[in-house]
Amino acid sequence: MSVIFVSDLHLDAKRPEIGKQFLAFLEHTAPAADVVYILGDLFESWVGDDDPQPEKYRVADALRKLSGGGTPCYFMCGNRDFLVGNDFAANAGLGLLEDEVVIEIHGQQVLLMHGDSLCTDDLEYQAFRKMVRDADWQHQFLALPLEKRLATAAEARRRSIAHNAEVPETIMDVSQQAVVEVLQKHGVATLLHGHTHRPAVHEFLLDGKPAKRIVLGDWYDQGSIVTWDQNGPRLEALPR
Ligand code: MN
Repeated sequence: MSVIFVSDLHLDAKRPEIGKQFLAFLEHTAPAADVVYILGDLFESWVGDDDPQPEKYRVADALRKLSGGGTPCYFMCGNRDFLVGNDFAANAGLGLLEDEVVIEIHGQQVLLMHGDSLCTDDLEYQAFRKMVRDADWQHQFLALPLEKRLATAAEARRRSIAHNAEVPETIMDVSQQAVVEVLQKHGVATLLHGHTHRPAVHEFLLDGKPAKRIVLGDWYDQGSIVTWDQNGPRLEALPR
């Protein structure tokens, strides 16, 4: 059994080289896995499944081909693409996951998250997250005309860039206390997430026992995947 994890591709028409590498990954690398998990921020932005961006349909076709070929693919939304809905998922053959899912790989329980909810020191971001993850807010937003949604998303992006430039690096990372709490809540010792763009394997003690936090990297300059087989998890960079 071999499982591949990716996150933080931030696919966008402005960065065609990422899309090209990801399509090659879906065609040549991913089919060797038994299952593929995309842990959020597959897309740079998402204002509704009705947004007619051709790049999205190329990715949907490639994802559908992957699952059609026998490698099921699951998607958990990130802080950029949290509005990905059932229409796109069905079109791409994706299984939609909630944030915080525990799966078992080779007898080991692993908690999967996007990771943004762990950045609890960034109070301004957490307030924004709470607002936009509310079902009523999403319903109202998705009812707006597409042009208005695109303009709102562009403005939110501008504000986010300004906010991130002001906030110290440590605040932008996950809080170790939040990591400990979420592992305790689920009764597991291994967490795998993305979001921070700080690929690493962190080992620490949780209630006196060894625990692990594996962080996927982004795809800005190269690919980043975790392959998990009988030999355990491997964090790898995929040269472009
Ligand atoms: Mn993210």
